[in-house]
Amino acid sequence: MISLNFLNSFGRKLELFNPIKAGKVGIYSCGPTVYGRAHIGNFRAFITADLIRRLLEAVGYEVNQVMNITDVGHLVGDGSVGEDKVLLAAQASGKTALDITEHFTNIFFADSIALNILPAHHYPRATNHIKEQIEIIIALEKNNYTYKITDGIYFDTSKYPAYGELSGQDQSEKLSGARVETGDKKNPADFALWKFSPVSDQEATPTGTQAIALKREMEWDSPWGIGFPGWHIECSAMSAKYLGVPFDIHTGGADHVAVHHENELAQTGAATGLRLANLWIHNEFLLIDGGKMSKSLNNTYTLSDLAQHNISPLAFRYLLLNAHYRSQLNFTFESAQASQTTLTKIQTQVTTWKNEVGGPVNYQTHPLWLKFMSELANDLNTAAALAVFHQVPKSDLTTSAKLELWLAMDSILGLNLAALTSNNTNLANQVNSESGQITIPAQITALATARANARAAGDYVTADQHRATLTQAGYEVIDNPDGSYALKLNAI
Ligand code: AMP
Ligand code: ZN
Repeated sequence: MISLNFLNSFGRKLELFNPIKAGKVGIYSCGPTVYGRAHIGNFRAFITADLIRRLLEAVGYEVNQVMNITDVGHLVGDGSVGEDKVLLAAQASGKTALDITEHFTNIFFADSIALNILPAHHYPRATNHIKEQIEIIIALEKNNYTYKITDGIYFDTSKYPAYGELSGQDQSEKLSGARVETGDKKNPADFALWKFSPVSDQEATPTGTQAIALKREMEWDSPWGIGFPGWHIECSAMSAKYLGVPFDIHTGGADHVAVHHENELAQTGAATGLRLANLWIHNEFLLIDGGKMSKSLNNTYTLSDLAQHNISPLAFRYLLLNAHYRSQLNFTFESAQASQTTLTKIQTQVTTWKNEVGGPVNYQTHPLWLKFMSELANDLNTAAALAVFHQVPKSDLTTSAKLELWLAMDSILGLNLAALTSNNTNLANQVNSESGQITIPAQITALATARANARAAGDYVTADQHRATLTQAGYEVIDNPDGSYALKLNAI
């Protein structure tokens, strides 16, 4: 098996990847907070995780990938105070929290398919794992790492000497940080494990006045009272449930190093004595006009915005491949358009080659394949690997071998070139080879629902984009006169 090296944010060194169990890899990727549509900056994080997973699979590992869906507890500002992003979105639109999270989770799945991101093996939702989160807080309480203040139960970072081990920041640096909110907390870096539902001022009763809990739309009972979990605890709980502790690889964007992942590490470390994950991989930001693309800065684009500029999701994926995941990348429509032009040329080349069959296809020992893999094995250097990819057309290989080599390379790059060579390719993993039964994958159903919703809301750009993605995946959508629709499997 080819050896892979990655830069581990934990220790900031390039390390040889060494799985916990031979031949198997567990990956936890911090997923979307589903209060709005994920923007293309978020998708840089999810595509980086997808590339890592595809590379591991290409060299022969069996991968188990978990991506959480954050549907409660992520507060505005990412700290321990402020409104819950999901509840704010629900209030603003007059919908329930569940309506909001289901809607944006479906859109997230649809966008992921369009970007040819392989589905994770598990997509656990925070609201379905309250019990597991409470269990960790109980363990932390037993080990004396918690304290209670007016708005919740907090983690005492001063009791965990290793706190700061991921970001390299020590407590005194956190203290001197300008934007740290402290309130009643003992230390600025302390964070909420469990937040209490807000309490009204006073309520008049026949015997006097008393404080009553305000009904929050998403709240649960706990040993500490009615409330909801802090954001960080969901990842400690759900990664442990689906992967065990420690697991191999934890991914996320660079903004998660100093707070979210530091806190995940501290919680699990203090509760179990174990380091949550061995290898921590963080992608750098997608920028816009030189600054971070982020919903709170109101400077984001989604795949619909790209579609309006005739830029396909796969052209955006191609654009990302041009930069190393640890370099910042400034997004411009000009560079995205250039990516679209190059991708179209690649696709045309594939369809031309497809019709020129014949000749030996042995490429596995060819220097271009070996070079391509060695670039990716060197901390996922997609930019260098892409340069090798572009040398293939001019190489000494036969046409068949060139095509096979590109398809092999693309099994990691993920531009879905295989779809151009066969109508059946995308269906391969949906057919149970023993029973011959076809199961419509959850993501396809979610995409069809998202399309119907977009159509009903008059958002025809999004609806058409989803239809195109479904067609590419082999499904035709048939709209009935009564407004219902059917999915027809086109090719098998
Ligand atoms: P969120 O939905 O806010 O939890 O973010 C989902 C993922 O997107 C996280 O891994 C973030 O670190 C990542 N992320 C957010 N903004 C950007 C950006 N501009 N560029 C790259 N990754 C980002
Ligand atoms: Zn997380």
